[in-house]
Order: sequence, then structure tokens, then C-alpha cells
Amino acid sequence: MRHLTEYSDPGGIRALAANIARISKRPARIMEVCGGQTHAILRHALDTLLPPHVQLLHGPGCPVCVTPSAYLDHAIAVARRPDVILTTFGDLLRVPSESSGDLYAAKARGADVRMVTSPLQALDFARANPDKEVVHLAIGFETTAPANALLAYLAKERGLPNVSLLVSQFLVPPILRAICADPETAPDAFLAAGHVCAIMGSDPYVSLARELNRPIAITGFEPADILLGIRDVLRLFEAGRAEMINSYPRIVHPQGNPEAQRIMAAVFDVSNREWRGLGVVPMSGLSLRPEYAAFDAAIRFPAPKTIVYKQLNDAPECPAAAVLLGKLQPPDCPHFGGRCTPDHPLGAPMVSPEGPCAAFYLHRRA
Ligand code: SF4
Repeated sequence: MRHLTEYSDPGGIRALAANIARISKRPARIMEVCGGQTHAILRHALDTLLPPHVQLLHGPGCPVCVTPSAYLDHAIAVARRPDVILTTFGDLLRVPSESSGDLYAAKARGADVRMVTSPLQALDFARANPDKEVVHLAIGFETTAPANALLAYLAKERGLPNVSLLVSQFLVPPILRAICADPETAPDAFLAAGHVCAIMGSDPYVSLARELNRPIAITGFEPADILLGIRDVLRLFEAGRAEMINSYPRIVHPQGNPEAQRIMAAVFDVSNREWRGLGVVPMSGLSLRPEYAAFDAAIRFPAPKTIVYKQLNDAPECPAAAVLLGKLQPPDCPHFGGRCTPDHPLGAPMVSPEGPCAAFYLHRRA
């Protein structure tokens, strides 16, 4: 409780906002790449505390939003098999696929789709249902990769042949490189997600800041954490220093979590990965290593020929790619709050609890 009150104390927040106003002298566009931070910024109206020349951009940090819709079509096709139990976190259930509806609808029509809070629950289902295939939807960034890797590792170690993973794991640094390669999307500075760095450590971001020629502040999730990250990254920006600063040292350590990194490296290889609406970004994801091929649901249940993983496969009327790259603010989408609401979403950014459109709808609707 102490940390919760300490990092949301109104007096401290006001002092930080005043500090930022003193430090910031020139226009700055700062991108966070974490749906949790996007929601915290809007829920606490932190953007309204900043000088008008400091703009916050909301990048592709919502894992559900960047999962390709063809992946969901593939997942739904697998779920419809009578011999399959499909396990997933709840936030994927209502994300529209390209042509098959969503997992909720598939479940309503009889598919055995089970919501889990840990990938390891798939092991229990597999043991209890030896005549069924248990397929887990392994999506997310570096934060979910260790638990998904552990599922594959334990399934192999315990000789559970009826477990497999349909993998769509993403890595943050390659997408930051892709964003910076396009002058239209490149921000002046980044806030890096504290939970990703808790796994991978702050050290990799030292060279990344130099490579991107932009400051990066590793940032937490409470209101004061986020303002601390903004303050620290603005200090570097104003001084013209393309460096990393760890503004979340109570959680993030230089080497991160070596155990988590070990299990990830044992199970996954770095690979090309398709991002919804953004296309294939080279070496921006994780795939199961060849020695785990027997646990790869994409091999065990190949996508039907009608499902095509392709370069850009967003729903035609949903400009999610522009939103996820910070080119379009959600309220400027012509469908925001009209044809597209959390009850009737046109795209993933309105569905996910981490999606930027849902964040604006919940916290900033006129
Ligand atoms: S408001 Fe809806 S249609 Fe517009 S970008 Fe967001 S999810 Fe897509």
C-alpha cells in the first residue's frame, strides 16, 4: 500500500508537473510503447499536466492490438476442431478476426475455449483430458514470453504430447527501430515499459538509445512513475543526450531477470514476426526452437489455405496501424465512439483493456 499511495500522492504529482514545466523548453514528442502506461496516462489525465508543447504519442504497446487478425482466424479454426481445448487470456476473446468473427462467438457455437490466468493451466487440462489436444494462444511481449516458454518446457519435460502453443510473441526493441526508421513516425524520445525491462534488464537499452539517437526512460505505471519518466527523458532531450535512464529502479535492474531470460532462450528463437497493420518486422518476434517443433500448434494444425498471413491485414475500415504508430489519435478516427465502441468494436485497439482506442473511449470521451 505504501508504494501505491506514495506514487499517486497529489502533492508529489503537482511538484513533478511543475518540475517538468521548468525543464521543458522546446517541442517534444514522447512515445510510450505500453498499453498499461497509455491507460494510466489517460485515466489520471497526466497529459493535461504537461506543457502544451510536450505531446504524448501512444505506440504499438498493446499486445492484443498488434496480434495479426489472420492469427485469430487460425486460432478460431483450431478451436473449432472437436478434439481441441483452446486456452487463452481473456483479452483475446472479443478481438475481431479478419473473417471468422471472434473467439467468444466460436465458443458460443460449441468450441471448447477456456479462459486462463496462467499458461501453465494448460498442463492441468492436458493431464485431465488425455484424449484431447490442448492448444494455448501464446501472445504478448517479453513480459509473457517466460511463462509461455515454461509451458512448452514443462510439457516436453513431463512428456505431455497433447499440449501445443500457437505463438505470436513480439519483441520491443525491433519495433522501436522500425518506428525510428520512418521520419513520419519517429518521436523525439521513448518511455520504455518497466515490466518488459524487469525481464530483459535496463542494460540493452543503453546501446539502443545510442543506436536510435534518442533518449529512453524506463518507466513504471503509477502516476508519479510516469511523470518521473517524462521528466527524466525530457532532461536528456533538452541536453541533447541520446541515453537511457532507468526511472523505475525499484523494479528494473541492469541485468533483468536472468532465470526468465534463460527459459526464453532455451525454448524460443528470435524470428521475423507480423504485426497487425504494420506488416512483417524483421527479427521482431519469438518462435519455438526446432527442438520444440512437436509443441508448435502452427505445425500440428497448419492454417487452412483460406487464411493468409500477409504484409498488411487490418480491417479495411479500421485505421489501427495509424493509431498504433502515433500518426492518428483515436478520437480523430471517423468511427471512434460511433460505429466503433467497446461493445461493438471495429478493431483490436477498441477491444483490448490495453488498447489506445478503448483508453480514450473510457477516460476521454466528450
Ligand atoms: S476507433 Fe475503432 S475503427 Fe478507429 S482505429 Fe480505433 S479500433 Fe479502429
